[in-house]
Amino acid sequence: MSYDHQPFLRRHIRVVPDFPKPGIQFYDISTLLAHAGAWRTAIHAMAREVETFVPDTLVAIESRGFIFAAPIAVELGLGMVMVRKRGKLPGNVHSHAYTLEYGDDVVEVSADLIERGQKVVLIDDLLATGGTAAAAITLLKAAGVETLGSVFLMELIGLGGAARVGVPCRTVLQVPA
Ligand code: AMP
Repeated sequence: MSYDHQPFLRRHIRVVPDFPKPGIQFYDISTLLAHAGAWRTAIHAMAREVETFVPDTLVAIESRGFIFAAPIAVELGLGMVMVRKRGKLPGNVHSHAYTLEYGDDVVEVSADLIERGQKVVLIDDLLATGGTAAAAITLLKAAGVETLGSVFLMELIGLGGAARVGVPCRTVLQVPA
């Protein structure tokens, strides 16, 4: 499809300066979600990227990744599995501790919802430094799951996020950091 969605989608994402702290330009997807046409366009555009990888299932990163992955999974007839922060998932989990700029964190995935040898695509709203996505991919790899690629609505350009993620990254919108 040759139509360029970028200007339309970009108009529906609110940029909030100095949130949640000074110096951060926060890209707020609330305004996109509130607009039926922009929301639908965003999901279709991300689904087109996801389907090129032909995954077995989707993996969504807490919390805004859930919002995007759920309708994409339904559109493509796929299931989705949640990667969550420590302590949120019941039952047996695989865990991975990692360090980001502002401290340590732990991500988890339900052990009985993934299988060794499965091929997945990772979904989140925004790619910045790539640390969050890289942690999820490491967690999945340790559980024997292959991440074929990752799909984001937005990428903050110039932060080297895609290189850090280490799997093919597809983004619908590229925006300044
Ligand atoms: P990173 O691990 O640096 O790639 O950060 C990506 C995660 O942080 C995503 O889950 C985003 O939702 C969130 N995030 C990082 N920077 C921003 C930003 N400028 N605006 C909105 N969300 C952000």
